[in-house]
Amino acid sequence: MKSRSVFSLTITAFLSFVLSQSGLLFAGINEVEEVAPGVYFHEGDLSGRGHCNNGWVVFEDYVLVIDGNFPSGASELIPKIRAITNKPIRFAFDTHHHGDHAYGNQIWADHGAVAVAHVGVMEEMKKYETGYFGGKPGRWEDTAKDRPDVAATRLKPPTLLFRKEMIFDDGKHRVELIHFGTAHTHGDGFAWLPNERILFTGDACVNGPYNYMGDGDSGEWIGTLEAVKTLGAVLVCPGHGAKGGSEMLENQQAFFSELRAEVKKVADQKPEAVKGLIDQIKSTLKKNEKIAKYVGDSFSAQVEKVYVEMGGQSFLARAAADEHLRPVSDGKDQEAVARK
Ligand SMILES: [Zn+2]
Repeated sequence: MKSRSVFSLTITAFLSFVLSQSGLLFAGINEVEEVAPGVYFHEGDLSGRGHCNNGWVVFEDYVLVIDGNFPSGASELIPKIRAITNKPIRFAFDTHHHGDHAYGNQIWADHGAVAVAHVGVMEEMKKYETGYFGGKPGRWEDTAKDRPDVAATRLKPPTLLFRKEMIFDDGKHRVELIHFGTAHTHGDGFAWLPNERILFTGDACVNGPYNYMGDGDSGEWIGTLEAVKTLGAVLVCPGHGAKGGSEMLENQQAFFSELRAEVKKVADQKPEAVKGLIDQIKSTLKKNEKIAKYVGDSFSAQVEKVYVEMGGQSFLARAAADEHLRPVSDGKDQEAVARK
């Protein structure tokens, strides 16, 4: 008996080792996962804290972090990075301008890091962060009403900008920050690690019902993902939800293609008619198992966005359409869903 249990313990330990080495063990939310030597993925607590996913790469002389997160997300991440390396955190890459990906920039700056982004992130901030740029209160001020972590710091737009791509390469690790066009926003950047074939997508690709479509363009989104697919990623780390394989890009793209195809069928209808057809479109999409996971609470707003893109009139009351824009207050409001 004794030798058997020792044997089974040994087998268990061995299997755990093999699984961890092959990356098959799934880390949970808020857990650090080394997805390749020196490359880390961290799935943020979205439902509780509104946090996005993060990645980071330990270079010879510094650490590059992927996504700024909310201030509370950045503050939680820094000790986790520090537990792995004492190399300075030099860069924080904002995959886009949304609060849960960029409002933590000041926290990173306080720890010596410069925020990096595609030029489109700055353009989007000028459009929506009117308070910072001398106009009426904008999204930051709105978010600060519900989130003490945002209220306690300030907006820090990225100061290191690239038009097409920016490359970090120390001979061992290589990260290419690339803009492929409009998708989730007009400033989406991807972090591509060609040596490991790992792709960090920001919210241009998510793994679950987390697509906020208000700042992007669904038609261009499909084309942008088509270009991204040519990279040949084997591991995809999305902006929200669990990591996965290259099929995630395919499924995310299929969701928009199907959504557009279904809305197009009713696009010549009056807004009242389209509103009534939402449940029908929803059940059609839910029947497709590849894309069912993308159908969630924001579905009406997503249908409306596509309908408007196709020349139709808005049909949701603004309050209802914006409901999913309300930021998750720092752990206090579990009901609202963040602007992703
Ligand atoms: Zn977003």
